[in-house]
Amino acid sequence: LTLLGIETSCDETAAAVVRRHRDGRGEILADRVLSQIAEHAPYGGVVPEIAARAHVEHLDGLIAGAMADAGLTFGALDGVAATAGPGLIGGLLVGLTTAKAIALVHDKPLLAVNHLEGHALTPRLTEGLAFPYLLLLVSGGHTQLLVVEDVGSYRRLGTTIDDALGEAFDKTAKLLGLGYPGGPAVERLAAAGDPHRFAFPRPMTGRDGADFSFSGLKTAVRRAAQAVGTPDERDAADICASFQAAVGDCLRDRLGHAMAAFRAAHPRAPSPTLVVAGGVAANRALRAMLETMARENGFALSMPPIRLCTDNAAMIAWAGAERLARGEADDLTVAARARWPLDPDAAPAPGAGV
Ligand code: ATP
Ligand code: MG
Ligand code: FE
Repeated sequence: LTLLGIETSCDETAAAVVRRHRDGRGEILADRVLSQIAEHAPYGGVVPEIAARAHVEHLDGLIAGAMADAGLTFGALDGVAATAGPGLIGGLLVGLTTAKAIALVHDKPLLAVNHLEGHALTPRLTEGLAFPYLLLLVSGGHTQLLVVEDVGSYRRLGTTIDDALGEAFDKTAKLLGLGYPGGPAVERLAAAGDPHRFAFPRPMTGRDGADFSFSGLKTAVRRAAQAVGTPDERDAADICASFQAAVGDCLRDRLGHAMAAFRAAHPRAPSPTLVVAGGVAANRALRAMLETMARENGFALSMPPIRLCTDNAAMIAWAGAERLARGEADDLTVAARARWPLDPDAAPAPGAGV
């Protein structure tokens, strides 16, 4: 099966062509991503109206480019997949409507894909990982721990009740005037700082379950920055290092609970796998911590290449292909959804995005 995938849920406009071979193996034929970071940087975050307009401007060209890279015409496709949620509704409408038009004109099945499902199924595209596995998704918009049981079957163990982890990095960076996106800048400064200088809180640690919270940490970072007046290079580095150490402790604690829950649910999985995805997975200090933690707990660790960890359309095409291979497709009347939890049984977290 060969599918075109379209991703427009946030600040990346992306189009890709992916093939799912009969044996379940995945192959990326084309993968184009256009980041809008420069357009949003002056505002210190993603501006929905700017994002939607940029998607409209660039999507057609990206799709044509991806089809050319793959050397295919629309007629050769087996289906068209687009992110239908969760995300910014303006952007979602641009991508989903474009996919519907292509599907209608060329008489192809439409797959309205959940963005989180795209992240969740990526390790099956990159390394053919078998179900079930544990997924830690840490990006600018999401912080979730999920058991990926099967295509279409996800159990949420935990989510953030306020800010996403990437957002916490971005806000810390903004506070210190480090620019947007903040993750890489905070990581760079943290490497030179003292992680013990500021005793930041570790929200939710020690509690049952695997939910996260980062707004208290954000507040503590703001207070610390105010307390030192105008932070110089040294102060900023120490704040970043202390912040990152607190984040690491939170992840370790929450992940410990999730690993135990996974084992209880799947006692016979001989070598369970932890998959880490999302832009924050680029952080080397956190990666090292996760590697140690996986080893100590008998989990294999899988991190898709960063390009496929952050938002892209290959994962959307792939999720569409996995569903199409099971005979699923969506009606052309399907609607975009700003909120769309992967696990319908999970109670919505107060103030959380999904
Ligand atoms: P989503 O809709 O999946 O939430 P997103 O665009 O918000 O998408 P990604 O593109 O997956 O998320 O990741 C971007 C986030 O990752 C930003 O918040 C950024 O600060 C963070 N990030 C990137 N690199 C690092 C790093 N080295 N350390 C920590 N955070 C990082
Ligand atoms: Mg992004
Ligand atoms: Fe994403």
